[in-house]
Amino acid sequence: MKELLVATGNRGKLREFEALLHDIVPRVYSFADFPGVPVVEEDGASFAENAEKKARNAARSTGKPALADDSGLVVDALGGRPGVYSARFAGDAADDGANNDKLLRELDGLPGESRRAAFHCVIAFCQPDGECRTFTGTLSGIILDAPRGDGGFGYDPLFLVPEYGRTLAELPLELKNRISHRGRALKELGNYLHAHDRS
Ligand code: IMP
Repeated sequence: MKELLVATGNRGKLREFEALLHDIVPRVYSFADFPGVPVVEEDGASFAENAEKKARNAARSTGKPALADDSGLVVDALGGRPGVYSARFAGDAADDGANNDKLLRELDGLPGESRRAAFHCVIAFCQPDGECRTFTGTLSGIILDAPRGDGGFGYDPLFLVPEYGRTLAELPLELKNRISHRGRALKELGNYLHAHDRS
């Protein structure tokens, strides 16, 4: 694979994708290279549906193989919420701070073992002709009752990774990339790209 477009408007994710792809694909485009690509609505019922919709749209409109992910936080005690609504948990215009505050309110009073959660990621990789494949990854953890750390984005400061005793916002980006839901899904994608070089 010589080139591909990472179809995300999220700078944190773009940085992670670029770091992870940099050994595999010589030319990685972003939406900054294709400002005219229409934005699709993320109205699917699953991470896979949303990821495919975004990657298919980007590949068709640019003529480049494109990948897009959909990811989010699945909290056991909340019946799987916020799930596909993770980015807008506290409302359509919500920022990370508002989403984290809402999560803390909803879990208020619950002890550690009831605060289990997992990040899920589905990456869709689509060709301009519409052919798509998906790759998945998850990372399990515990939602703390107060934020810790300055790194990462989204729910990272509240997400404790028990194996490391640190939140995702306290781990170096390189380590987060290796163990994260997106890192694991990307590893699957990387294996696929190495094995099926369509140039
Ligand atoms: P997406 O951009 O539609 O995939 O929305 C994913 C949302 O889930 C983000 O806005 C974050 O709130 C959350 N999320 C996904 N991946 C991560 C991560 O690695 N760390 C923290 N939050 C994440």
